[in-house]
Amino acid sequence: MSTGTVEVVYRGVFQKTLAKNICRGVVLAARKEGKIGIAFGRYGDSPERNGIPAKQFAVVSDTEEELQEYLSRYEPSNNDVTIVMDDTLCKGVESWAWAGLQPVTKLLRSGGTLLVTSLQPPAELIGDLHRREEPYSLAILEGAASFSGMFVYKDDHTDVRLLGALARVAPHIVTLHSMTEAIAEVWKTDLKVTSAKQAHDRLATFPVASGQGNGHAATRFDLPGWTKMAEGLVIRGQSVRQAVPGWEGGYVPGRSTTFKKFSTRSMRPVINFDTCKKCRLCWLQCPDTSFDLTPDGLYDANLEACCGCGVCEAVCPVEGCVTMVSEAAFDNNASQWRMWTQDRKAYATWLSKKIAVRPQRAHGFHHRGQYAEELQAVSQRR
Ligand code: SF4
Ligand code: SF4
Repeated sequence: MSTGTVEVVYRGVFQKTLAKNICRGVVLAARKEGKIGIAFGRYGDSPERNGIPAKQFAVVSDTEEELQEYLSRYEPSNNDVTIVMDDTLCKGVESWAWAGLQPVTKLLRSGGTLLVTSLQPPAELIGDLHRREEPYSLAILEGAASFSGMFVYKDDHTDVRLLGALARVAPHIVTLHSMTEAIAEVWKTDLKVTSAKQAHDRLATFPVASGQGNGHAATRFDLPGWTKMAEGLVIRGQSVRQAVPGWEGGYVPGRSTTFKKFSTRSMRPVINFDTCKKCRLCWLQCPDTSFDLTPDGLYDANLEACCGCGVCEAVCPVEGCVTMVSEAAFDNNASQWRMWTQDRKAYATWLSKKIAVRPQRAHGFHHRGQYAEELQAVSQRR
């Protein structure tokens, strides 16, 4: 008698179909073993939208009574496996009513497995993860974050590869045999079955001991009890402008004090202030009003507000002045302009190192053999 749970953390809209395919695949495979299960989505307490971390779950039980008992809780909270479909989400997710960044391992049970699609080595991924007391395993399925499943992206088998990997780390939930049977039935192609088997065999797993991870604190917050709630619905307005101590001139718009977009983006702009012509185009075109106008007339992308869309890079008329770089390359959200004003030479060195790791612009695979080429390129860089 047992229940197994799988949580899939993904980027809203972009990876929704992949997450659905995975959770559905788990339940269909479990049915082949005579178990009963359910797959369901869960918004991050707001309508799912581009890039926002979101979740889906698959719960599998031996009996219907067990499944019903398990589902009486608000959400699965002791998952056997948490699948992370974009490794930049290892820094945390903000999907609890916008109440701050929370560890991606928050709902993983002690001894469970965090299964991540990534081209990063384990030490770097562990450095992105919040420290926790309970040990767990980190399983890495080598590959870039995929947008396969959106109509403009080709199917790159990421869904079945993760299903094959899942059968390796949690055979008590579904075995590889039942998983491949389900894949053959749903997708009706042997190629998908082969992909799942290869992912199963190639998966690398690393132990993460108690206390490993970064020292970043999860956001703490107090939810208001019913005695503190206002009698009516109150929507507070934003101030038009924030005062910045010590600044004369410049302009910082008012912003939400609780909703920060740290986990929303997979890339961030890096600005070369030495070549900026102060043309203002980035400031005008940014859809999230993310740029702060500094007292010296430069434009600093405020990382509390930036969603990582890349519009500023696209509109900047100066070659190389704005470069979008993978979030995986950063461990804080400090102001780049302040860093530049403190030591311009050191900033230039920092900038050249960061833009060397800008991400690929394509998500998923576009030709046969691209996966092998990507893995080879990564091993040459290491
Ligand atoms: S990437 Fe650039 S344009 Fe997009 S939200 Fe961030 S600062 Fe604004
Ligand atoms: S678009 Fe480029 S050159 Fe123009 S203000 Fe922004 S960073 Fe500077």
